[in-house]
Amino acid sequence: MTQEVPPIKATKQMRKIMADYFAGLDRAKKEGSPKVAWCTSVGPGELLLGMGFEVYYPENHGAMLGATRMASDVIPVANAAGYSPDICSYLTSDIGAYLQNVTPLAKAYGMEAIPKADVLVYNNNQCREVQDWFSFYAREWGVPIVGIQNPRMIGEVKKSHLMDVRSQLEGMVPVLEEVSGVKFDIDRFREAVGLSKECTIRWRKVLEAAANRPTPMHFFDHCIHMAPAVVLRGTQQAVDYYDLLLAELDERLKAGVAAVPGEKIRLYWDGMPVWGRLRMLSDLFMELKAPVVSSTYCNSWIFDPLDPKDPFESMARAALEIFNVRDEDFKEGYIKEWVQRCGVQGLVFHDSKTCPYNTNSRFALPNRLSKELGIPTIIINGDLNDLRCFSDEQAKTNIEAFVEQLLEAAA
Ligand code: SF4
Repeated sequence: MTQEVPPIKATKQMRKIMADYFAGLDRAKKEGSPKVAWCTSVGPGELLLGMGFEVYYPENHGAMLGATRMASDVIPVANAAGYSPDICSYLTSDIGAYLQNVTPLAKAYGMEAIPKADVLVYNNNQCREVQDWFSFYAREWGVPIVGIQNPRMIGEVKKSHLMDVRSQLEGMVPVLEEVSGVKFDIDRFREAVGLSKECTIRWRKVLEAAANRPTPMHFFDHCIHMAPAVVLRGTQQAVDYYDLLLAELDERLKAGVAAVPGEKIRLYWDGMPVWGRLRMLSDLFMELKAPVVSSTYCNSWIFDPLDPKDPFESMARAALEIFNVRDEDFKEGYIKEWVQRCGVQGLVFHDSKTCPYNTNSRFALPNRLSKELGIPTIIINGDLNDLRCFSDEQAKTNIEAFVEQLLEAAA
């Protein structure tokens, strides 16, 4: 029988600040002020906050569509409208839900519809899909779209990269001023970058707490508690929330509370979560006493370079340093560092059918890491939202066999 794990008490506060956030967006739409900007999840949210926008992140909506499994009903609607089943299933879920006029925000937050954008702002550092995704809404609503074309496959971030992205960021300001009707104020921008930095510092500590044995939180907790770091970074609410969570983590560490009681094997997860199967996978790893302690995905919202003293340049650097845009050598070194920090004994790679950008198993990275670190790896086929690409049975059998192999090796 699996031992009960005490729930994370801070969850209640997280629900409250998320509800307040969506209420703010809903109010802004109804009153027409402040203006609403849509932003990609690792896009220039701080600049938008600094210019007085309410900021909405559609990838969060995509994840909600996945987690509620509404995605399965609406992806075919987008497919029928010409968006291939092979492209990002956040995109197809979100556009499908829009075409079907449904949203999980209705049940979760009492919103009648998604908050329509006054301007759409992206950075294609994470993938090309975001530009196509936002372009759909720009055409649909006749609103402006601005974006950053970010260099990809970067090793070392060079001055030329920084100048490129910085100038693109600065170039957005006149468009944003026109939409918001608010004059750019560097102090307001600095404040948002400063708060985002404080959020990052705390979110990093939450993730690093997994280096403790037993780990007080695991990947599936991180997937839930990362929400404020995604949609509320740049606000005081996110900073306060992570202070609360860190205080609770401290209590859990002192009391020896284990996210996965009796942990035997520690794992790393690379790739997107399978949102519609979070619970099933969490239960499986719990039963196997094999916590997933760390992940590339949840680490993606650590933006170490942010610096309110130099907001444009530091935001440019943060955008250029994210894992997705780096070359294979960087990725190898990065995962290695987290594996060693958290005492990981096995690597799980999720090959997410519709997100090649967050799939790192297709160019022999697992083989190289396994050789270098001397630890086994496994590749699970699936998808972030499209459950037609995921087999519960196959994933379960493969993961069970993998953990068994690790246990034998450890015995
Ligand atoms: S990074 Fe992947 S999951 Fe995220 S928007 Fe792009 S294709 Fe979709």
